[in-house]
Amino acid sequence: MGWLTQRRGGAERNMSFQEKSLWAATAPELESFADRPLAERTDVVVVGGGYTGLSAALRLAKLGARVSVLEQETIGWGASSRNGGMVLTGHKHGIGEITQALGVTRARELWNASLAALETVATIVQEEAIDCDFARSGHMDAAYKPAHVKGLEATHELLEREFDYATRLVPRARMREELGTDVYYGGLVDERSAGLHPAKYVRGLASAAQRAGAELHDETAVMEIEKADDGFRVKTARGTIVTRNVIAATNGYTGRATPQLQKRIIPLGSYIIATEPLDPQLARKLIPNNRMIFDTKNFLYYFRRSPDDRIVFGGRAAFFPATPDTVRESAHILRKGMLKIFPEVTAYPTGYAWGGTLGFTFDMYPHAGQADGIYYAMGYGGHGVALATYLGQQLANRIAGQAWDNPFEGMPFPTMPLFWGNPWFLPFAALYYRFLDWVS
Ligand SMILES: Cc1cc2nc3c(=O)[nH]c(=O)nc-3n(C[C@H](O)[C@H](O)[C@H](O)COP(=O)(O)OP(=O)(O)OC[C@H]3O[C@@H](n4cnc5c(N)ncnc54)[C@H](O)[C@@H]3O)c2cc1C
Repeated sequence: MGWLTQRRGGAERNMSFQEKSLWAATAPELESFADRPLAERTDVVVVGGGYTGLSAALRLAKLGARVSVLEQETIGWGASSRNGGMVLTGHKHGIGEITQALGVTRARELWNASLAALETVATIVQEEAIDCDFARSGHMDAAYKPAHVKGLEATHELLEREFDYATRLVPRARMREELGTDVYYGGLVDERSAGLHPAKYVRGLASAAQRAGAELHDETAVMEIEKADDGFRVKTARGTIVTRNVIAATNGYTGRATPQLQKRIIPLGSYIIATEPLDPQLARKLIPNNRMIFDTKNFLYYFRRSPDDRIVFGGRAAFFPATPDTVRESAHILRKGMLKIFPEVTAYPTGYAWGGTLGFTFDMYPHAGQADGIYYAMGYGGHGVALATYLGQQLANRIAGQAWDNPFEGMPFPTMPLFWGNPWFLPFAALYYRFLDWVS
């Protein structure tokens, strides 16, 4: 339980909130996968039990492979049960930036992969009958400054001209049709994106993978991965597994077991609060079309309604991976930000506050492939719900000798001198981005 000072009618009062993910707290519990005996030998060991690892395991098991998923905490414990549940088209870089950097042909490949990723989530949810509130309610990018409207217009035109893809500009005068606030200067709506309950989704994926024959293990931290004649010896605190293939699906939590990946992934904290449930009429007034919303700041806010009509409001309030202190401090900052946008929410206390770790990369693109023989997919930034599901499945296809799509094929996976996984430079980056939000 944490304490937060909230203002109501000018008066300050202390209120408590639960320091845990709303989603993890409101999804049906998974059975425990701890204490199960480890296989001595298997075809594939998957390190990490989030969307990437479970989607790979589901596909591999369906293709007939023996697969063991090893998770150091509990299945789904990482970002996959803590995120905003926004299943978005596109990537961390805007489509304009991608086109400028890589050319239109390559940009089309990346754009189409993001659409395929979204459809992969929809297909898995349907085929596996995962009850996770999946709804194609669309997303809106909201202009935080008048100058940002031009950027939204450029994206809209580019998508139509080069990608044959329709989005809709919302002028300021009509923003109330999309958001119950006058804070933003315009918006760009993409109807294809979706929302879901992230913890129900990850737990549903786990159940589906298990039904298909994958072996899941909680509390099984991988400490070392050693090359062996016919593959790898994967050493855990609970024993060693010999395997032909390994998938590193550890994203923002990548550690010393895969040092070659650890020095390429920047762990970045992102934080969310959820209010107590709103009067349903007020919830519909604030976010009428149930869109997933994010804004155009570098230090962006992202927000939505939960299926039970809370406002779920996130941002990079502190850069460092979550600790109880950063969660409490971020809850305070995020609530202030939320009330500026939706003052009517003042009457509804914060019910939950939590944080999670994103995996960022130095070029801000995800990466997938093989390093020292270990398969990996990671670095999704805040765009991992769809892409992690997709790349997990694609890695499984690759291992099973099937056709696979790696939209990031051929892109070097950069690192930085003096970086070994501890992001000492983040305070400088934070200052830089705050400065950009101030001047641009
Ligand atoms: C607060 C927040 C909000 C976000 N919002 C969105 C959003 O709205 N939309 C979106 O698309 N994306 C969002 N993301 C990003 C998205 O959640 C992630 O990209 C996605 O969940 C990554 O899935 P994953 O399986 O690769 O990694 P994770 O779910 O993080 O799983 C990695 C797992 O690996 C385990 N692990 C690490 N090392 C070891 C080891 N040595 N041995 C065993 N296990 C190990 C960890 O314990 C962890 O459970 C958000 C992320 C955060 C943190």
